[in-house]
Amino acid sequence: MLLSPSSLCYCHALHTSRGTSSVSLSQRPLRLAVLGAGFAGLSVAWHLLQESPKDLRLRIDIYDEVGIGGGASGVSGGLLHPYSPKGKLLLWGADCWKECLKLLSIAEAAVGQNSYGFIVRRRGILRPAMNMKNLLILNDNAQNCLASCRIETVDKETAQNLVPKLCMPFESAFYMPEAVNIHPQRYLQALFLACENLAKELTTSGFGERELCLHKKSIHKLLDFEGEYDAVIVCLGAKADLLPELAGKLPLRTCRGVVAHMLLPADMGEDYPDHSPSILSDAWLAFQGPRSLYMGSTWEWKSRDSSPNVSDYESSSALEDLIPKASLVYPSIKDWAFSGARAGLRAMPPLTPHGSLPLLGCVNDVLGGNRTCNYWLFGGLGSRGLFYHGWLGKLTAQAVLSSNEELIPYELTSWKRIKQ
Ligand SMILES: Cc1cc2nc3c(=O)[nH]c(=O)nc-3n(C[C@H](O)[C@H](O)[C@H](O)COP(=O)(O)OP(=O)(O)OC[C@H]3O[C@@H](n4cnc5c(N)ncnc54)[C@H](O)[C@@H]3O)c2cc1C
Repeated sequence: MLLSPSSLCYCHALHTSRGTSSVSLSQRPLRLAVLGAGFAGLSVAWHLLQESPKDLRLRIDIYDEVGIGGGASGVSGGLLHPYSPKGKLLLWGADCWKECLKLLSIAEAAVGQNSYGFIVRRRGILRPAMNMKNLLILNDNAQNCLASCRIETVDKETAQNLVPKLCMPFESAFYMPEAVNIHPQRYLQALFLACENLAKELTTSGFGERELCLHKKSIHKLLDFEGEYDAVIVCLGAKADLLPELAGKLPLRTCRGVVAHMLLPADMGEDYPDHSPSILSDAWLAFQGPRSLYMGSTWEWKSRDSSPNVSDYESSSALEDLIPKASLVYPSIKDWAFSGARAGLRAMPPLTPHGSLPLLGCVNDVLGGNRTCNYWLFGGLGSRGLFYHGWLGKLTAQAVLSSNEELIPYELTSWKRIKQ
């Protein structure tokens, strides 16, 4: 389905949102619906509040059938750095990295010091080279790393000072000291709290009133929103194409991933040192503390199972897959005990000459017919949703508020020009 920006049909309320029509602004607030409360939905909600003109009256309704972090975001490994598996800086890597770190800090500031544990673990990420080809490519790409997220090539001794008993098949590892891992559930709850605080702050400071509501509700049809809202932003992850209006129209593949939670028993081994980084290899280890880590992830292509629940059978297959991979670099994983598993469904976008890029843009033309509301998509975040959500959430919010799809880079909207 073709959609050129000039063919977009923008509604009146959105046109006036940045402009001068005080009559329409005083009549009723601008009403926006955000579908999904994962990384994508909450980033869009934050940026809609943050980027809208201060005197605008605005109502944002967030809909999620499970609640905050009910999809892939809530079970993700929470590993964050701006590089591909080959160590190449991803497209718009600097912007995505910067905006994501900003959102993480905003979420941390919203909860302040509390007893619930960390939101962001700033201990870096270490990737041991797994074969000679891998070593050469990573070495090459490391030369072009960001100054704000360096890649250091480290020898065995340095790496083992970082991670005791680390096994390095090729005596060399790549260390990203500024990379982080987050606790996804805590982060999402905190980001929602930050959104609520911002809405209150803007309202009480005498600017246009802001309302923000979270509805635990399942969405069955996009067109149910017609007449109710000025714009609807679809952030439903791997379930976006279950909506009848989008079914068969999004170039997405789905892939289920299981993450295992591992604990180090009290009578076993030494604590994982507080200063030590998380580890990336064929399986990743996202450390949560001295005796707690998440190990991931499996890749079950074509699965449509989005349930976070994992059966005993699925857990043991996941362990059979992940433990040998993790043991290659971190043999001590054998001392850790399995304490449970969760799963999520990734929405994988197609591979383009620029890599696998999320799918963004206005989807009115995809829906067809004359619409009184603008429908937008922020989906296909693949296996790097945390990395993409900050900057692309900001761009989506700006595009929605100004009804201007051209604010989004062409590469992210060009999926609409490919015939399904
Ligand atoms: C196992 C695993 C590990 C991962 N690890 C990482 C990682 O370390 N780093 C990283 O950057 N990325 C990681 N990812 C990828 C990342 O989790 C995703 O890219 C990201 O979560 C997608 O966010 P989203 O908001 O688009 O979708 P989701 O988080 O899936 O959010 C969609 C929301 O929509 C709701 N919803 C769906 N359908 C409906 C409906 N009909 N009505 C109402 N609500 C609905 C769901 O409940 C859900 O809360 C991982 C993914 C998986 C599966």
